[in-house]
Amino acid sequence: MESIQSSLKQFSTGNRNFQQRLQALKETVLQDQYVQQFLREHEEVDDTMLEQGLPKLYEFQKEQHHCAHCPGLQACPNMMKGFQPTLIVNRHFLDLQYNPCSIKIEVEREKRKQSLIKSLYIPKEILEARFDNVEFDGERSHASNAALNFALTAKPGEDGHGLYFYGKFGVGKTYLMGAIVNDLKEREIDSAIVYAPDFFREMKYAIGDGTFQQKLDYVKSAAVLILDDLGAEAITSWTRDDVLGAILQHRMMEKLPTLFTSNYDYDELEKHLSYSDKGGTEELKAKRVMERIRHYTTPVFVEGKNRRAHRP
Ligand code: ADP
Ligand code: MG
Repeated sequence: MESIQSSLKQFSTGNRNFQQRLQALKETVLQDQYVQQFLREHEEVDDTMLEQGLPKLYEFQKEQHHCAHCPGLQACPNMMKGFQPTLIVNRHFLDLQYNPCSIKIEVEREKRKQSLIKSLYIPKEILEARFDNVEFDGERSHASNAALNFALTAKPGEDGHGLYFYGKFGVGKTYLMGAIVNDLKEREIDSAIVYAPDFFREMKYAIGDGTFQQKLDYVKSAAVLILDDLGAEAITSWTRDDVLGAILQHRMMEKLPTLFTSNYDYDELEKHLSYSDKGGTEELKAKRVMERIRHYTTPVFVEGKNRRAHRP
């Protein structure tokens, strides 16, 4: 992209009169829809300000047009990648203020989240999961409908009811959760998927590096939390009661829905959770955690073939 300076240089070395070209450039810039909108909102802008501020106006309209045809953050052609200029009037001068665009803000937010919690689990295929690719008839229709219904009607903070997807490995439980996450995003509802085995392991290490509380707070208060593959982790009394139990307790009080995927049904998961690393079983404690899961989710059996087995 050429800068105003180089444009002006061309004008000044060209055959035609410099002033004439400058005037032509000014007219073009002033006709621009974004510049016109600014001028409508700022009646105090006079002719001198316009003359002096021409380079700023030129930069502004050029970058506004880039943003209108945004090619994505990686290919952003703006002078400062991911930043969008706003025209302002600064003591009788036009000036530009650069703020990060919405895509940049979103990317940075994701990065911060992921630097906080490593087990936030968003593989590419899940990021791309959409209800458009989900079958609404056949053996998985029940699960697809339950997922879509949640995505369309969830009201975190008002209704803490979630879903419990269980079924064999590879039938598409996590994929459906991905479609929910993407639909919720469109409703501006933030969700977090954590892969349970990694998450519990990470929480154990977090005690040592002092990030436990921060991580726990984040997961506790995500508008929608998805605990993926619960039951696949090596459970201990501590992860069950002080991590899982504490998270579910808080979410229940705040009416924040939690969604689960598991290879186990409720009863099998209860058995898994009653394992005690201290020896023997802790059925009562497992029951207490399970009660929160049973009470705050609708169980949905996900049927179907193992989609992974058919992959090359
Ligand atoms: P589960 O969580 O039940 O073990 P996954 O959700 O990981 O199963 O799905 C297994 C594989 O099938 C994944 O690679 C996933 O991307 C793919 N998959 C599942 N459902 C769909 C779908 N509706 N459309 C396209 N791919 C799907
Ligand atoms: Mg899965």
